[in-house]
Amino acid sequence: MRREKGSSLHLDLKKENRNKIFNKIREAVEISAPALSYELQLSRPTVKQNLDELLEEGYIYENGTFGHTGGRRAKAYSVAAKSKVAVGIDLTRHHITVIMIDLCAELIYEKRIRADFSQEDSYYKKLGELTEEAVASVQIKEEAVLGVGITVPGLITEDHQTVFFGKILGFTGLTAAEIGKYIPYPCRMYNDADAAGYAEISKSEDLTDAFYISLSNNVGGSVLIDHKVYKGEGARSGEIGHMTIQPGGRACYCGQKGCFEAYCNAGILAGGCDGDLRIFFERLEQGDARCSQLWEEYLHHLAIAVNNVRMLFDCKIIIGGYVGEHFEKYLPSLKRMAAERNTFEEDADYLRVCAVKKEALALGGALPYVHGFLKNI
Ligand SMILES: [Zn+2]
Repeated sequence: MRREKGSSLHLDLKKENRNKIFNKIREAVEISAPALSYELQLSRPTVKQNLDELLEEGYIYENGTFGHTGGRRAKAYSVAAKSKVAVGIDLTRHHITVIMIDLCAELIYEKRIRADFSQEDSYYKKLGELTEEAVASVQIKEEAVLGVGITVPGLITEDHQTVFFGKILGFTGLTAAEIGKYIPYPCRMYNDADAAGYAEISKSEDLTDAFYISLSNNVGGSVLIDHKVYKGEGARSGEIGHMTIQPGGRACYCGQKGCFEAYCNAGILAGGCDGDLRIFFERLEQGDARCSQLWEEYLHHLAIAVNNVRMLFDCKIIIGGYVGEHFEKYLPSLKRMAAERNTFEEDADYLRVCAVKKEALALGGALPYVHGFLKNI
């Protein structure tokens, strides 16, 4: 019994060292064996053995040498960033976005096409083709693909396999196996706002907790605690789109009245501009009276929701989604309006605009694969 325990401890330690060494190389971009040994406080033989293994497996490579003074030059080691990759696919009513990231979470592929969502075989085939195209274009081996994260405007079961609320696209019950039937890699599904929030918190080094508000064709939210998405009891946390901000107000697609969704989805703004949000913000910029009024009302409702979230969590709030992409200039107005509602604070400096823009959703679908790999290497 004791021996068993001892050997598993030994294995854990071995794994931990390997993990530390690999992630140190990744963070450092290039580093020598003596530097690894010094910085991680590990013996030279331990470092050497791990470097040999990682080289053999193709996860790192020798990247020249360090130093120009006498004596033997130390070899530099770097991570073979494309030795593993992850694909992210974002599905909306009219578009498919495919991205790929490497082990350093760098975007190495991106493609967006117009394609209407459907549950027909031809659509699933298209997803398979787009994935194969992405893999072919970055010249990697098929076994380098860790998996495909598909983000959708729906609520997903905790195992990432089934849509359990899919009213927006009418796809309740759809499974990852079905949607990924032509994708030759493991597939998972993610809620779009959770994925965008996860991408955002992963890229925000100064933040561990935040609430992400996704203002796209639909309104969503994500509770981020300690760099993870807090899911709640039924995987429905952060669904602020259906928070009542106007009792008895506008009808929401969910069947209720006065939901935040009904006041702040991007379509409210883009509706009168051929559905193009860019045109809306151009007109707003030019002082168009109708757009200005719409925007005032939009900010009014957004400020209510923002203040409610602040009261609830007392954390940073990130404005994201399609509207978030255009928001920088208008942040002071929203801050002012949110501060006016606040019981405790004079300003609303807890508000910020998303740093990850349009690829956020697909990125949030791919990142968990890379993070999972980095944790377990
Ligand atoms: Zn609703």
